[in-house]
Amino acid sequence: MSEAFVILIGLAFGSFLNVCAYRIPRKKTLLFSRSQCPNCGHTIPFYYNIPVLSFILLKGKCRYCGEKISFQYPIVELFTAFITWALFVNFGLTAQTLFYAVFVYSLIVIAVIDIKTHLILNKVLIVVLVLGLLINFFGRVIPFIDALLGAVIGGGVMFLVAILGNRIFKQEAMGMGDVKLALVSGFFLGWKLILWSLYIGFVIALLSIGVIWIIKKKSVPRHIPMGPFFASGFILNLFYGQQLFEWYLGLFS
Ligand SMILES: [Zn+2]
Repeated sequence: MSEAFVILIGLAFGSFLNVCAYRIPRKKTLLFSRSQCPNCGHTIPFYYNIPVLSFILLKGKCRYCGEKISFQYPIVELFTAFITWALFVNFGLTAQTLFYAVFVYSLIVIAVIDIKTHLILNKVLIVVLVLGLLINFFGRVIPFIDALLGAVIGGGVMFLVAILGNRIFKQEAMGMGDVKLALVSGFFLGWKLILWSLYIGFVIALLSIGVIWIIKKKSVPRHIPMGPFFASGFILNLFYGQQLFEWYLGLFS
């Protein structure tokens, strides 16, 4: 399979992930329903619904009402294509690629929904976990005991941090959604990588909040969705976990 073809498939999946991120919180059906402009409701014909290309040709505006189309759409499409390509190059046409694609695709949907609604939805997590269990059962990507430990340790550590954080900040710094996200991600990453990924996720979160604090002149919004920070940590470590960890240890020797 050529890499160009993989990128095209990735773009198509990215387009579908946008549909998921829009429709799931609104409880709309995912399949057999044409895309519509969120503003004017006009059905979008397929030739205006080509990933990235349509956004550029339409100059980021709806063809019918002129309403701006969010940059989220091409960004998600490009990022999904990039990840799909990276998985294919790293793991080839294997159960591993399928396993991690399901994981990363869902992280993308979860991150977008979390940014927009501040919610990490149970139904997304459950679907992902079931798919992960099935693929791992047939494809044997990681030992089941490692996946199980990853889920228990990932969820457990995040639960403790959430409780501690809420005590310290006297408000809900992290929700149970983050705990469940860590649990499901632990299943995909195994116990070693989930621990390291959570650590990296916190570092990314702290750095980002620091930047927000500086940009917004020392005021930070009351609620910051943490999902995207952890999702970035998980994706980064999926590819570079080992190298990153060795580099980190090297800092102290
Ligand atoms: Zn429109």
